[in-house]
Amino acid sequence: MKCNRCGERAEIKLRQHNAAFCRTCFVPLLQKHVRRSIRKQKMFSLDEHILVAVSGGKDSLALWDILIELGYQTTGLHLSLGIGDYSDQSTELAVAFAEARNLPLLNISLREEGLAVDDATAFTNRPACSACGTLKRHYFDKLAIDRGFPVVATGHNLDDEAARLLGNVLHWQMDYLARQKPVLEPTHERFVRKVKPLYRTTEFESAAYCFFRKIDYILDECPNSAGATQLKHKEVMNQLEAASPGTKLSFVQDFLERARPMMQSEANRPPLTCEGCGMPSFTERCSRCRLVREVQTKRARYADRARSE
Ligand code: AMP
Ligand code: ZN
Repeated sequence: MKCNRCGERAEIKLRQHNAAFCRTCFVPLLQKHVRRSIRKQKMFSLDEHILVAVSGGKDSLALWDILIELGYQTTGLHLSLGIGDYSDQSTELAVAFAEARNLPLLNISLREEGLAVDDATAFTNRPACSACGTLKRHYFDKLAIDRGFPVVATGHNLDDEAARLLGNVLHWQMDYLARQKPVLEPTHERFVRKVKPLYRTTEFESAAYCFFRKIDYILDECPNSAGATQLKHKEVMNQLEAASPGTKLSFVQDFLERARPMMQSEANRPPLTCEGCGMPSFTERCSRCRLVREVQTKRARYADRARSE
């Protein structure tokens, strides 16, 4: 197998593009593809300072590396979620990446902020992924707004977007479908723009990118995600992709171009302001404030019970 560009020995085959590349050609090519997505979708400009949400996983570290290589101004944001050893390791890798390149990184511990994911799941019946998602979304906006960043970039990739689209379609989640875009403009003064520059990049490509660029990332899946529905949807999409390469890309791309524009009005419903924390919310209290309150109540109840026993 030869590289489509230079004719040297190819090291990666991209079946969805019916092409193969050596590492010397693949790395700048992926960077160029990401730049094209950023420009085409008007995600941000070279003048804007981007807050890059880095988990310590391959996608967000690849994204950060690509943005630096493309000349964008960035600061990393890592949330230490408080999911046992998994979080400690993720934090170490995010910090090591930033230190090795002398990049600014905000490292925020959710436990120090008042509620870690482990406590949220220990004291409530909510699925861990839902509590985790609520907390992440809250802090992405809050930290970006408080520190003056106009935009937050996440490492969501094509596999994430295709699996999410499948889940949303299976349940006709019209609200979620309307908001499934690579660029989400703020609809409240305490929201920032959210962008997904890797929405056309597969998990396989970001892993290969990290490998070729010698970026060390966490290999383990989050322990809470075992059995999560999104993983099942990813498996299904992988089967379809294997049978017919390019399925994921056309599924997401055609949705964005043909179906999603018809859902415009639903996406524009502006949120209210949370009574608890002032952040945007579709109910009187935002989901993070409701989660914090639930944990506080249950914690107090357990403490009372323990005392009376
Ligand atoms: P996930 O929700 O784990 O699939 O992650 C999707 C994206 O959210 C990642 O690519 C990151 O950009 C961001 N993200 C996830 N976990 C964290 C974290 N602990 N700190 C900062 N960003 C995160
Ligand atoms: Zn709130």
